[in-house]
Amino acid sequence: MAAAAATGRLVLFVALVAGSAWAAQKEEHVATAPAIHALRPLLGSGSDLGVPCDSWRLAVEANNKRNWKTLPASCEDYLGHYMLGEHYRRDSAVVVDEAITYAEGLELAGNGTEVWVFDIDETSLSNLPYYAKHGFGTKLYNATSFNEYVLEGSALVLPETQRLFNKLISLGIKPVFLTGRTEDKRAITVANLCHQGYSGWMELLLKPIGFKSTAIVYKSGERQKLQDGGYIIVGNIGDQWSDILGVPEGGRTFKLPDPLYYIG
Ligand SMILES: [Mg+2]
Repeated sequence: MAAAAATGRLVLFVALVAGSAWAAQKEEHVATAPAIHALRPLLGSGSDLGVPCDSWRLAVEANNKRNWKTLPASCEDYLGHYMLGEHYRRDSAVVVDEAITYAEGLELAGNGTEVWVFDIDETSLSNLPYYAKHGFGTKLYNATSFNEYVLEGSALVLPETQRLFNKLISLGIKPVFLTGRTEDKRAITVANLCHQGYSGWMELLLKPIGFKSTAIVYKSGERQKLQDGGYIIVGNIGDQWSDILGVPEGGRTFKLPDPLYYIG
């Protein structure tokens, strides 16, 4: 009995020593925490109200988070900094660098049949002036006010995408715009694209008014028509997964960043 009691005391002693060592380690960790946290604003994790905005954005970009209507309200500042600062441009540049490397490595038939599909909104043109006034995606989408904005034709160029667009033309690959914008916006879309420096595209495909199915069904159907017409879709770039999913998706797909909204 005495031996058992002694063993019990020893176990307790070891546990206490281990516990205090762990506590000391924890204290040390806490002591170094402010230095780590001081880097947070620079890294842009933006979690002031407990929502890890950078993790949220990663889940969106990886298509793990789907069918969402708005981004967390506490991420408005984070998204504003991301979109208006260098980060968004930098992320886009990495995508475009990859796309150009891929395109330059292609062996083209030389008969002008290779095309590259470009989405428009948040791919070729940026609606950031609108979203900056409407909470960077923290407010519910308002079709009326957004359509009014589109009809102004004042969307801005996304320079990294334009770099790819021009490079493809120089390589002999024809750009095709394929957008969820409806046919009634053709004139303003052409004017907006031209005004922002785009020229030389092969086709501008807009959605028929009243089309009832999903973006994936619409866009993959249009790509199928291109393919049936004898064209080879060597590349496809968009900001939504619905731009690049659905057969035929193209020889290679490229996903540009867009944490502002989701189109299924
Ligand atoms: Mg888009």
